[in-house]
Amino acid sequence: MEDQDEASFRQDFNAIHAPEETLIRYRKFRSDLDKAAKKSAKPDTCCICGKENPKFCNSHTIPQYCLREIAVEGKLLTNAALVGGNLLDTEVGIAQALTFKRICRKCDTEFFKLYETPETLLQEPSSQVMGQIAAKNLLREISKAKQELGSQKVLGDKSPAMYDAMMDVRSIDVAEDEKALQTALRVGGSAKPSNVYSILYYKVLPYVVPFAFQQRVCLISDFEGSVINNVYNRNPKYKMEPLDVCVLPSKGNTVVLLFASSRAKRYRAFARQLRLLADDEALEAIVKIIFTYSEDVLISKHLSESVLEDASLKQLARMNSCYIMLFHSLKGDAANAIHAAIDDYSISALPDVPNLLSEQYSLER
Ligand SMILES: [Zn+2]
Repeated sequence: MEDQDEASFRQDFNAIHAPEETLIRYRKFRSDLDKAAKKSAKPDTCCICGKENPKFCNSHTIPQYCLREIAVEGKLLTNAALVGGNLLDTEVGIAQALTFKRICRKCDTEFFKLYETPETLLQEPSSQVMGQIAAKNLLREISKAKQELGSQKVLGDKSPAMYDAMMDVRSIDVAEDEKALQTALRVGGSAKPSNVYSILYYKVLPYVVPFAFQQRVCLISDFEGSVINNVYNRNPKYKMEPLDVCVLPSKGNTVVLLFASSRAKRYRAFARQLRLLADDEALEAIVKIIFTYSEDVLISKHLSESVLEDASLKQLARMNSCYIMLFHSLKGDAANAIHAAIDDYSISALPDVPNLLSEQYSLER
C-alpha cells in the first residue's frame, strides 16, 4: 500500500498477499470463469482468411525467437514479479507468453512470415512489416477484450458495477480495434509500400536487453504534461490514437521501434520532444513509457534482484492507466480525471528508473 497516493486518486495495482486458503478459492474461481469466458469469446472464423471453425493456433504476439533470446530455461518473468504479492503468476513459459487464439495455423505461419524472420527487423521496417506488427497487437488486444467481455457475460447479474462500466468502454475499444485490424491486415499483406504508418523512433541496439515488449499503448501525456489522448472522453466521435511500441531482442541485437498511424496528429509534440533527447535519455523515456502503460512486459530472469526490487521501477509497474476507477468514483467527473492523469503521466515527471535499454543492463552473450 506504500505507493498509493490518496491525493492523486489513482487506483494503482497493489501487492496482494492472500492467505493460502483464499488463494486456492481464487484460483478455482478464476480458472472456471476463464474456461467459460473463453468458450463464449471463441470466434467462428479465422480473423485473417475467414475459414469457418478452423483449428485455432496458439499464436504469439511477440515472436518466439525474440523470447528465446532472453528466456532462462524457457521461462520469463511477468509484470507481477515487479508488482509483488502472490495472487498473479510471476513467471510464464514461452509457450504461453502473450498468446491468443483467433487465427488458423496456416495464417499464423504465412501471414507474419516477413516480420518473424529474424533479419527483417534489423533494417528500418517497411509498411508491410509495421502492418504485420500492428495486426498482431490488434489480434491480441481483441482477444483480451473478447475474453473480458465473455467473463462479464458469464458473471451475468454477479458482474460488479465497476466491471460493467469498464466493459462498456471495452466494447467501444474493440469495435475501433476491429476496424484498425482490417487496415493492418491490408497493409501487412502487401509488399506495395503504403503511408498508413509513420515511424516515430527506430534504433537497433548492438546488444540484448533484459526484456521484450510489443503492444499498442494510448499515451495520455507527453513529456511536458500536455494531453495526447483524453482516455476519459467517450464521445464516439473522439478516436483514441494509439502508439505501437516494440522492444524486440533479435540475433544478439535489440530493435526498438515506435510507430503510429500517419493520421494520428496528437504525437507531433511528443515526437519532437523525443527527438531532442540524447540517445540514453530517449531510451530511458521509452523504458518509462512501457512500464507505466503496460502490464504485458516480459522480463528476463537474468535481471538482478536489486533491479527487480528498484522502488521506482515497481512504482511504474503498479501505475494503473485505467482511470475508469477514478472516473467512476467521482461520478463521471471526466475533466478532473484527465487533469490528474496528465500530471501523473507527464513523462518528465515520472521517477527515474534503471535504464534497462542501456548497455549496462544488457545480457551477456
Ligand atoms: Zn486463416
